[in-house]
Amino acid sequence: MIIKSAEFVTSVGNVSQLANFGLDEFAFVGRSNVGKSSLINALTQRSKLAKASSTPGRTRLINYFKINNKILLVDLPGYGFAQASKTEQSKWQSLIGAYLENSPNLKRVFVLVDVRHKPTIKDNEMLKYLYFYNIPFNVIATKLDKIPRGQIDKHLTIIANELGIGKDNIIPVSAQDKRGLDKIWNEIEFIESE
Ligand code: GDP
Repeated sequence: MIIKSAEFVTSVGNVSQLANFGLDEFAFVGRSNVGKSSLINALTQRSKLAKASSTPGRTRLINYFKINNKILLVDLPGYGFAQASKTEQSKWQSLIGAYLENSPNLKRVFVLVDVRHKPTIKDNEMLKYLYFYNIPFNVIATKLDKIPRGQIDKHLTIIANELGIGKDNIIPVSAQDKRGLDKIWNEIEFIESE
């Protein structure tokens, strides 16, 4: 995908603010610190589009980014931020839930997991939710540069087994060395061409 333009559209913090922008949407979700902002920046080749923060959980809003005036990348709040209060956690959960259930233009959800770690209960819950609502998704394994090449297959097998999905359904990526980004764009372009 040639990125001609990438711009921030709006942030939404309340269910009542969710809107229909009339463009196809591709959402990114995952636990805090999984590398979501870095991935969106790498995909769009804009170093500061989605703010990568060293404070996990700072991004508590749904952020919409418009690409080539054609599609929206939707950055959903990170879940499972341990230091957040129960009230805050449930607020983000209901915001994510409301978004997923009420977005007619949502074409695909990319669920991010860290390639180094076993997926968490929250990741499993997210997948169950997506199955339940029949929302198509891909799993993206982030931070690929952090493991030796010879161990990639082993890590993907563990993630696939934990999530109960096929290993081929996982897209391994690195925001740092840019591996795998083309696969995400290919997926998006394929959906757009349908
Ligand atoms: P978010 O909370 O999910 O948005 O995560 P961030 O994008 O802020 O990333 C969390 C931390 O992981 C930051 O210190 C990033 O620099 C680092 N990180 C993110 N993606 C990668 C990657 O592909 N490779 C490496 N080595 N570090 C990454």
